[in-house]
Amino acid sequence: QSRLLFPLTSLMRVALDLQTSSALFARIFEYLDLKPAITESPDAIAVEQALGPLGSVRFEDVTFRYPDAAAETRPTLDAVSFTIAPGQFAAFVGPSGAGKTTVSYLVPRLYDASEGRVLFAGEDVKNLTQSSLISHIGIVSQETYLFHATIAENLRYAKPEATDAELEAAARSANIHDTIASFPDGYATVVGERGYRLSGGEKQRIAIARVLLKDPAVIVLDEATSALDTLSERVVQRALDAAAEGRTTIAIAHRLSTIVDADVIFVVDGGRIVESGTHAELLTSGGVYSRMHHDQVAGHS
Ligand code: ATP
Repeated sequence: QSRLLFPLTSLMRVALDLQTSSALFARIFEYLDLKPAITESPDAIAVEQALGPLGSVRFEDVTFRYPDAAAETRPTLDAVSFTIAPGQFAAFVGPSGAGKTTVSYLVPRLYDASEGRVLFAGEDVKNLTQSSLISHIGIVSQETYLFHATIAENLRYAKPEATDAELEAAARSANIHDTIASFPDGYATVVGERGYRLSGGEKQRIAIARVLLKDPAVIVLDEATSALDTLSERVVQRALDAAAEGRTTIAIAHRLSTIVDADVIFVVDGGRIVESGTHAELLTSGGVYSRMHHDQVAGHS
């Protein structure tokens, strides 16, 4: 099953746009639970046994090359270090291809760092069981994969034993309950391929409801590149705020407007963190971030 990841050779990747690979990422981790291309140590411990605080994420001098990258090319991540404390909202921004999404792949150990260490709850992810690691990470990606099944079943992938009341509570917090209730079959409405068609914003809110049901310590938010309409975006944003509450949030952001309130913003360029700080700090320092901000405000985003 791990082979699924590796057919993404350079030739195929040309044909796959980012959205497809993000969707693949979400499918692998959230639902099909395929084993990533790593091996679990026989002495691996559960995240609960780790000594550090649940929700902390730390990179120590992480250098990373994709397995299929030519050896002489520059690494995708080059000596990246950062620490995110439990409950913090951390955002990664930077030009396309900078390595932001790759950072998010190393947290659930989709790939191993080539050099350096990735720590989750204070423990090197290589020493953690994959199932416990993944159980503490929720992903809201650009493209949500819905099975050809009822909405209730799609939600229960996150928590099979969830009661109807729990499904509804999660859907309410994710701002999607009223929409579901307005469908002729409610939670029994069949969605996914050949099913009832949901809008992009509705699918995202279903994904958020899933994360709320899963109740992980860390969420990875891969922000949509294609903007929703303003009303829908506001509704999704409120749902995201609910999901981020009390959890460590790692946001891969394209629009700077969504991350002005981040506790810390990491600016990634060419595989390195070139700046970090709050929105206000980064604006004052007048570097890459302030230029990106200026460009987006000026309407070039
Ligand atoms: P964007 O803003 O466009 O989403 P990003 O900052 O998230 O970009 P990444 O997706 O992390 O950038 O990609 C960083 C680099 O790694 C790019 O040059 C990309 O082509 C390369 N890359 C991404 N995925 C793979 C892969 N599976 N195999 C080989 N190279 C890859």
